[in-house]
Amino acid sequence: MDDAMTALPLVFDAPRRGMPPRHLADLTREEARAAVAELGQPAFRADQLARHFYRGVTDPAQMTDLPAAARETLTEALLPGLLTVVRHQTADNGRTRKTLWRLHDGALVESVLMRYPDRATVCISSQAGCGMACPFCATGQSGLTRNLSAAEIIGQAVAAAAAMANGELDGGPGRLSNVVFMGMGEPLANYARVRKTLDALLTPAPHGLGLSQRSVTVSTVGLVPAIRRLTEEGRNVTLAVSLHAPDDELRNTLVPINTRWKVGEVIEAADAYAKKTGRRYSVEYALIRDVNDQPQRADLLGKLLAGRLAHVNLIPLNPTPGSPWDASPLPAQREFVARLRAAGVATTVRDTRGQDIDGACGQLAAADSVSVPSVAVPAPSVEPTVELGAEEDQ
Ligand code: SAH
Repeated sequence: MDDAMTALPLVFDAPRRGMPPRHLADLTREEARAAVAELGQPAFRADQLARHFYRGVTDPAQMTDLPAAARETLTEALLPGLLTVVRHQTADNGRTRKTLWRLHDGALVESVLMRYPDRATVCISSQAGCGMACPFCATGQSGLTRNLSAAEIIGQAVAAAAAMANGELDGGPGRLSNVVFMGMGEPLANYARVRKTLDALLTPAPHGLGLSQRSVTVSTVGLVPAIRRLTEEGRNVTLAVSLHAPDDELRNTLVPINTRWKVGEVIEAADAYAKKTGRRYSVEYALIRDVNDQPQRADLLGKLLAGRLAHVNLIPLNPTPGSPWDASPLPAQREFVARLRAAGVATTVRDTRGQDIDGACGQLAAADSVSVPSVAVPAPSVEPTVELGAEEDQ
């Protein structure tokens, strides 16, 4: 393995600069009502604004239930435009669409909307860049620019819901049914804002998108304290753990956070989550040729997961620029699947939607055109701390 691929530092503390202006979606309903009242408007206008926002209405002229004189003031104060489309790219016969968004400070993030016969899923970003430094992931290689605000994360899902409702994807109007936190960033490193996003995704109209718990998936490298916190106070969404290796030695190199929280600890935390929610978690495993796809690793993984409330989601590696690694060949994939199944572990192989527009898992990297420099800083020589409890809510 090329050592240069694993040399990036882990970055937990996102720079505080660059956070966007306050938005309705950052506020609780009570806070939104108070903010509206401060602007001299009756509090119920907060509900009207929320209804417009979650339906994807951004033009004040269309908010005909608000007095004309108040529209500009209210939208400027509470619905500032946070996400600007830089470009859309479509693939899979118009059924996959990747959107590159520019944020107010020039940072760029991507989301991918995928339409299937029975559902429509949007893959959203929770951070601009990522500090987790996984060597096979394009975002991981770009470093962390900053956390997204709740409204910036929620806005990606709202835009996808509106795109489906308006029939912008091939196949006519439809409904956004699923959200996965598998875009750029480590969601549990931006815990408070992701938690707020979960509330917005699950809350019925007018203050949310009204999705069901099981159709929302949070994917994590395995920040154990944050998984525990989600277990205690979460909304019972589906958990996905990016394992990629069953043994600590290899996982230390593929998912560097493993040097902090080991395979055993991550699985224990995920088990506790599954026990609480009563739902299986997924174990994400990118199959990398000759790196983690050996038959004995399949057996180790099978042994690790047998009898647990988990299923394995294998992802043939999507090669990223500059990486020496490739996807496992089909026979190796089949052998891996067969061994896991023989061990009694439910296993699926993920389809790789949007590969030709670099929209597949782990390919999202806006670094080529980022107008703000990435500010990943070297980790301190002592172990960095993740202050999950202390993070300011905004
Ligand atoms: N930080 C979160 C979300 C990241 S992206 C996490 O790590 O879980 C979602 C999934 O795509 C993760 O399982 C991630 O490991 C995987 N992934 C990243 N790069 C990939 C690549 N090049 N090929 C296949 N899967 C990849």
